Amino acid sequence: MSQKLREQADFLLSREKGTFYKDPGGKLSIVLVYPNTYHLGMSNLGFQGIYGLLNNMYDVVCERAFLPEERDIDEHIRTGTELFSLESKRPLGRFDIIAFSVSFENDYPNILKIFELSRIPPRSAQRGTHHPLIIMGGVCAFFNPEPVADFFDICFIGEADEMLPEFLEAYRSSADKPDVLKKSAAIEGLYIPAFYSIAYDAEGSIAGRTQPEGVPERIERRFLEDISSSKITTTIITPGTEFSDMCLVEAMRGCPWNCRFCAVGKIYSPPRRKGLREIKDEIQAGLEKTRRIGLVGPSLSDYPYIKDVLQIPEVAFSITSLRAGRKSAELMHMMKRRKSVSIAPEAGTARLRKVINKKISEEDIFYTSELLFHEGIETLRLYFMIGLPTETEEDIEGIIHLVKRIRDLSKRGHITLSISTFVPKPFTPFQWHPMENPAGVKDRLKIIKKGLLSVKGVKVFHDVPKYAYMQGFFSMGDRRISRVIEKMSADQDWQKAAESAGIIKDFYIFRKKELHDILPWDFIDMGISKEKLWAEYREALA
Ligand code: SF4
Repeated sequence: MSQKLREQADFLLSREKGTFYKDPGGKLSIVLVYPNTYHLGMSNLGFQGIYGLLNNMYDVVCERAFLPEERDIDEHIRTGTELFSLESKRPLGRFDIIAFSVSFENDYPNILKIFELSRIPPRSAQRGTHHPLIIMGGVCAFFNPEPVADFFDICFIGEADEMLPEFLEAYRSSADKPDVLKKSAAIEGLYIPAFYSIAYDAEGSIAGRTQPEGVPERIERRFLEDISSSKITTTIITPGTEFSDMCLVEAMRGCPWNCRFCAVGKIYSPPRRKGLREIKDEIQAGLEKTRRIGLVGPSLSDYPYIKDVLQIPEVAFSITSLRAGRKSAELMHMMKRRKSVSIAPEAGTARLRKVINKKISEEDIFYTSELLFHEGIETLRLYFMIGLPTETEEDIEGIIHLVKRIRDLSKRGHITLSISTFVPKPFTPFQWHPMENPAGVKDRLKIIKKGLLSVKGVKVFHDVPKYAYMQGFFSMGDRRISRVIEKMSADQDWQKAAESAGIIKDFYIFRKKELHDILPWDFIDMGISKEKLWAEYREALA
């Protein structure tokens, strides 16, 4: 093993508080893998929470592994060091279970890099009974695992904290891997991709799916009914994360709003709130490790106990998201000394906000912005999307106009625009909608940048459109995409990889789909009818 890699792992561990070091003897060993860097993985509340949840089981030892930084990948290859877990430095192939937590589609190629560094065959069909069981959880697993389905033995369709105990019971009582798969198929929410065959028609669309008798045709998404009982919290405090030395506490799961581009509102439905007593207890436990508490939830201004929580003395609170409006402005007033606050108008005109069902008015945006500047914040971050369905030049001009009017409200502070390209997501009314063409997106970005160039104290940042299209390709993809991901692991750009895998990328990202099309994720029962989503889509376009 490379001494350098070992020392680096020890350095990361030396800065952590809360790490579990358990004797693996006689215990079920699980390595939890985040298919991106340590920094990003450790910033992910779900990843941290599952690590704690598993380690709090007396007969389980859970360790962690991440995608190494680029220079460390070279060191792994140069020294022939297999990817190993942080805690005991065991190669991944020596664990009973490898559990991937996948939150972003663009991390799919990293999954294969991790298999390669671990010398594990990527396709489940190539692996034998001596290989660990490889499972997939995280948000990508429960809205469309199909592009990576061939790489996993089991995918968790839904919230892992709800399903893990049942799955582990089945695992413990199984004789071998085929037995685990058979028993898991009978558990609601667990999806065993190898049991399903997909047929395509002459146009390349999905013609149907078949599965053996006794295996469910559809997989019902599972969710934890009462999040007051959830054990998902920051387990390890470390300066090496996005939320440096901060304990994240989940206040809400699911969102009461219904923005039409957003998958969060749908796949985490129904909105659930943690009880006041439980959240206070969790904050108290967090305070034993750090004074910095980050409250997490998609729309915290809707959390009924937010004011009670923010009044807890001697806590430095941070809030991930607020909706523009009077209620949020009041909360900001309670949270003194904030340097930066984000609000998300998403679109430049009231018309387009109506199309996407973003229920905030210009009045809300101006009122909140003015108050925030008055409170002395240094940076107001504004989130916008471009390439949205029905978007016109007027909507783009609307962004410029809106920002200029916000700037006119106060000479204090900076304004930062964060612009991302619209990517259609499964289980949203826009799942049928094609992405805007790249030239159009680039032109719109140019117009915005030019229009705000001379406005003092305004900076414009945007995503790299190339990666937004890659995300669209993966998020709309079916099982055939796995061939592209394999090609990408040979360092190929995704478009070249699609070409050499014989996959027409436009079919996935620029094709306008119809209600009768079978979508790759239709086998998941999210609890929302396709007809209802379609009606909403038609209403938006109208
Ligand atoms: S408010 Fe935010 S989290 Fe909620 S549906 Fe809209 S975009 Fe999604």
